[in-house]
Amino acid sequence: MKFVSTRNSKKLYTIDEAIHLGLAPDGGLFVPQQIKKIKMNFNHSVPIFAAKMLKPYFDQELNQITKKAFNFKIPIRHLKNGPKVLELFHGPTCAFKDFAARFLAEYAVHNQKTNLLKTVLVATSGDTGGAVAAAFLKKKNFRVVILFPKGKISKRQEKQLTSFGHNVHAFAVKGTFDDCQKIVKSAFQDKRFKKFKLISANSVNLARILPQSVYYAYTSLQYPNSTFIIPTGNLGNATACIWAKKMGFPIKKIIFACNENKTLLNYYKTGKYLPKKSVQTLANAMDVGTPSNFERVNHLYSKFINFKKEIEVYSISDQQIQSTIRNAFQKYKYEICPHTATAFAVYEKHNIKNAILVSTAHPAKFEKIVEKIIHKKIKVPKTLQKILKQKSRSVTIAPNLDTFYKNISKL
Ligand SMILES: *Cc1c(COP(=O)(O)O)cnc(C)c1O
Repeated sequence: MKFVSTRNSKKLYTIDEAIHLGLAPDGGLFVPQQIKKIKMNFNHSVPIFAAKMLKPYFDQELNQITKKAFNFKIPIRHLKNGPKVLELFHGPTCAFKDFAARFLAEYAVHNQKTNLLKTVLVATSGDTGGAVAAAFLKKKNFRVVILFPKGKISKRQEKQLTSFGHNVHAFAVKGTFDDCQKIVKSAFQDKRFKKFKLISANSVNLARILPQSVYYAYTSLQYPNSTFIIPTGNLGNATACIWAKKMGFPIKKIIFACNENKTLLNYYKTGKYLPKKSVQTLANAMDVGTPSNFERVNHLYSKFINFKKEIEVYSISDQQIQSTIRNAFQKYKYEICPHTATAFAVYEKHNIKNAILVSTAHPAKFEKIVEKIIHKKIKVPKTLQKILKQKSRSVTIAPNLDTFYKNISKL
């Protein structure tokens, strides 16, 4: 299988090139040259299913990789008198990003060509950094460097980024998430950083999107013709669902549940894509005004009417997020995080038939918001407890490349 940029279908890339470049040289995003239909049944464990399903895209046996990467469960919970919920938060950092991060890490370890030290560099606004760090923790020949905006992420998220130790290094940047991302982007283009052998774990990386198609495919075979309601920010998770549908898996509709960032809702209503500055909401991992995977979705549907046939978009306010967290607890005795609440709100409000609600994170990661609403302490999963007990360590830096260079050189 070869890959092309969303902006040029003539130039072909291998999977390795696509993963290492992250972004296509013309600024577009990598997509499979074609998404072929594949016939599968779900009488396999998830790792074996994943290896079979992804093999055409990675051009290699993946059994060893998927066995190590997907070593936790993806239960579908049936709420009594309520909807089905696809729980994607049973990985080591309790968010769905563990799937892709762990696949990327095992793939990188399996395919490394030298024993030289490589540096995985990642900017994070919350969950990505922790998932990538956990995935590469103690991997020989790899280290992880995380940049996060000082004071702008939840306390538990920060604790998670800064407590791994070993080969994980966290920098608290005196600035915003955009500043962190700017530093990362410039580092990849700066000659001084060549010697660090940087690897990108960015959210647009193909190796982060493809593995996420697996849980949609697997679930759709168990519950054919369901509609997935997906809490959406940068559109990575939803793109994976769209790709699973294109592969021929029996998925009916795909609904983007967004917060008050309405770029996608406006596109759905008008056919015009107008990126906006992001606004802060309770579902902070979805605070995105310029969804970075939009170009992939747009490329796939090419015409707006085709998009409208398969996709619906809704926007949920902070107030609705709060009332939905309360209702879910009262009605179903079920604790949900603010992101997952957007999917629940869409389901309740629009009476969606045959719905599967995608739960993207464990509520214990956002206990400051959720506990106040449900008046109950949330039990912290063991994996999270372990991380929270450790000592935090980070170096605070000014938001510029030179300072970052000086500090990374000292590691
Ligand atoms: C990253 C994240 C999202 C948004 O996913 P995208 O792939 O960016 O659309 C939703 N919920 C949680 C908990 C997240 O960490």
